[in-house]
Amino acid sequence: MITAHLPAGYILARTQRWDGTILAAALVGSVFPDFDLLAFYLVDDRAFHHHHYWVHAPAFALICGAVALLVSTLFAKRLSRHIMAFCAAWLLHIVLDSLAGGIMWLWPASGELFRIIEVPPRDGIHWLVAFLTHWTILLELVIWGVALALFWRQRRMA
Ligand SMILES: [Zn+2]
Repeated sequence: MITAHLPAGYILARTQRWDGTILAAALVGSVFPDFDLLAFYLVDDRAFHHHHYWVHAPAFALICGAVALLVSTLFAKRLSRHIMAFCAAWLLHIVLDSLAGGIMWLWPASGELFRIIEVPPRDGIHWLVAFLTHWTILLELVIWGVALALFWRQRRMA
């Protein structure tokens, strides 16, 4: 998924009736895994697919979420819903990246990337253009459409 993580996080938040800072936590969680692109470009010089960083591994996200929820339940109960929203959106990001991006679903047992659909590379075409012109972009457009409809509906009701 290239463009629709943030609107997908918004849809998740709206369907859960999360508002304010909890909505914000979900929006940050929905794009959080792609902050690994900083390490990908600035540290590792694109040496491997950025979905090999732990933040794109479902098991790592689940472990972090469980630890954060446990700690917040014990010491900062008022943050529990924020952490839950952040982690749910983080996992949604990973699920959406499974469509065509590839995710290490078996990590730490295996670093293999699993995807539902392969976007084939095309000679002379940049990988980003290949993704943006593949039919899977239609799913991203649907996600954007639903998110915008929910946004405008929310604004009208406010
Ligand atoms: Zn991602």
